[in-house]
Amino acid sequence: MSQGVRTRPEGSGQPLSEAYDTALLDLDGVVYAGGNAIAHAVDSLAVARAGGMHLAYVTNNALRTPDTVAAHLSELGIPTGAEDVITSAQAVARLISEQVPAGARVLVIGGDGLRVALRERGLTPVESADDDPAAVVQGYGGPDLPWARFAEASYAVARGVPWFASNTDLTIPSGRGIAPGNGAAVEVVRIATGAEPQVAGKPLPPMHRETIIRTGAKRPLVVGDRLDTDIEGAFNGEVDSLLVLTGVTDGALLLAAPPRHRPTYVDADLRGLLTGQPEVTEDGKSFRCGGWTATAEADRLELEGDGEAPDGLRALCAAAWTAAGEGSCELDGGKALARLGL
Ligand SMILES: [Mg+2]
Repeated sequence: MSQGVRTRPEGSGQPLSEAYDTALLDLDGVVYAGGNAIAHAVDSLAVARAGGMHLAYVTNNALRTPDTVAAHLSELGIPTGAEDVITSAQAVARLISEQVPAGARVLVIGGDGLRVALRERGLTPVESADDDPAAVVQGYGGPDLPWARFAEASYAVARGVPWFASNTDLTIPSGRGIAPGNGAAVEVVRIATGAEPQVAGKPLPPMHRETIIRTGAKRPLVVGDRLDTDIEGAFNGEVDSLLVLTGVTDGALLLAAPPRHRPTYVDADLRGLLTGQPEVTEDGKSFRCGGWTATAEADRLELEGDGEAPDGLRALCAAAWTAAGEGSCELDGGKALARLGL
């Protein structure tokens, strides 16, 4: 792992499932979408696990308990125990426990995932600002969280009670579209109080620390679909990452990624865990991967050749990231990506 500016995806001669001891997998957009398994996820994870890779699931969603998430995964055909699920609720509960007296009361604005995680750290969840809380914690409460809960948080936060948030994802995908996430709920309280919460979830260090404490991973690979949570979290934790294209990141977003959003590896889906990763080679101003050659021109990215789409994308990443250096590539990659069907 190099922490210089990454200018191309790396290659790996070994399958990633053998090169790393533990996969720290994001859920939505990686393993499932809208509750259903993503294509190739179940089979690929089964093979990786049979080969000895430890699989852990890392989610910013604080609503569901690890038990509930593990049951859902097992139902999809991915046998999972609660101990292999790490949530932002657990990360924020640890963060709070380090700053308040043992057994302290914590005002909860959110769901069961938060209450269970607080009790696990010996803290006492309470429901009212009048219960004399030592901290306020806000996590995703689902679509039925009453507006009055935000008032409850605001009363305590405005009095100066320390305020914590499990995560600040502004949106959450639903079967019907994009819904407001916990970050949007946090904004409500921020606007009302002018205060700033301490945040635990990806991409911030408390979440990564929680996953390492709980998994004991020595050589982890973060696997995610989002650049500003999964990939940036891996960057902040100084560990390697695999971006899969089954979620919210498309080719254009990836080509424009600034250094902290550039994954170590890129692949179409979780089958990428089971293979090596082809090298991108440099040839003068051009970058080659598989049958593709990518070049940065004055105002656009050019792509020639043919072959597998992920190889073309890797070559384009190298051209775009090299051209952008420490910035964000602004060259037009639209035509090149269209050739790849991305
Ligand atoms: Mg995701």
